[in-house]
Amino acid sequence: MENKKELRNWLDDFGLDHPLVIAGPCSAETEEQVLKIAHQLKDTDATVLRAGIWKPRTRPGNFEGVGALGLKWLKKAKEETGMLTTTEVANANHVDLAMENDVDILWIGARTTVSPFIVQDIADALKGTDKTVLVKNPVNPDLSLWLGAVERFHTADIKNLGVIHRGFSAYEKTKYRNNPEWQIAIELQNKFPDLPLILDPSHIAGRRDIIFDLCQTALDLNYDGLMVETHHTPDDAWSDAAQQITPAALVQIMKDLKIRKEVSESEDFKNKLNTLRAKIDVADNQLIDLLSKRMKISDEIGRVKKSQNVSVLQTKRWNEILGNMVLEGEQHGLSEEFILRLFKAVHQESINHQEKIMKA
Ligand code: PEP
Ligand code: MN
Repeated sequence: MENKKELRNWLDDFGLDHPLVIAGPCSAETEEQVLKIAHQLKDTDATVLRAGIWKPRTRPGNFEGVGALGLKWLKKAKEETGMLTTTEVANANHVDLAMENDVDILWIGARTTVSPFIVQDIADALKGTDKTVLVKNPVNPDLSLWLGAVERFHTADIKNLGVIHRGFSAYEKTKYRNNPEWQIAIELQNKFPDLPLILDPSHIAGRRDIIFDLCQTALDLNYDGLMVETHHTPDDAWSDAAQQITPAALVQIMKDLKIRKEVSESEDFKNKLNTLRAKIDVADNQLIDLLSKRMKISDEIGRVKKSQNVSVLQTKRWNEILGNMVLEGEQHGLSEEFILRLFKAVHQESINHQEKIMKA
């Protein structure tokens, strides 16, 4: 698949002067609920109404969606509000039912993108469609799997494509439900700058209080849109209650976000600078994360050394590391002076960590 300007035609056709907003509940629950939310979203920035009809649950026993019946509610919401509709499809049967009920945009869920067999079945079922297909990232942090899914749809002659970044699961618990791993989305954006990229802050956050910040980072990174789970009474939602916000809260978020449009020359300069700064912030956070992981390993070494009564400073080993890193640095365009200073600081911190453990 090559990058082509046409990739974004469907989005440009909306003619929006703000990012595309897809909003609506995690799950369609009742007809009243879908219609109520749609009407509350009608005169906002939201162009597309989302609602899960079939819900992929990691564990059985949770609400698994109302099924095909809910498609009628989406259709009615479209008739009453003029909003476009979108839902998740996870097999060929879902595709047929969604098409029969005039769903405008179909999204592929994170648990589906991981499976090339299922993705291929869905692509075959959709072959040649002029519907828009949005591909969520797979649950695991694997860019090829994500791109592979997009390529399968592209090869099936589906021209209106986009991707949704919903974060990646990790074994360790962090402040996110799914780690953003922004660098993966940035890499995808570098490969396909015209493929519309939409952030799903709700599934990254897992909680409502950090949704705004995630949206702002995405806009600073030039994302094209946002998909935000929105419910008239979020706390009562049948699925993902903690991360849903009200339509009014979404309106406030859209008001508070700094939305950058490409206008004058100087604006263009500022935009570029902001985007690059946002990328630096992502890289810096990764650095801190890595350094902290490295120190945890040092702590572990400290414990091993303590158990054997070995001294903290092992000069021979340290000189080896330094020599290797200077060579490695050179190959990556980093000066010897910088590498020496950096690794001396890292080493000192490591020794401090280990001494603390020895004295404990
Ligand atoms: C959803 O959008 O409600 C959903 C189930 O998303 P994901 O596939 O990202 O988990
Ligand atoms: Mn959800």
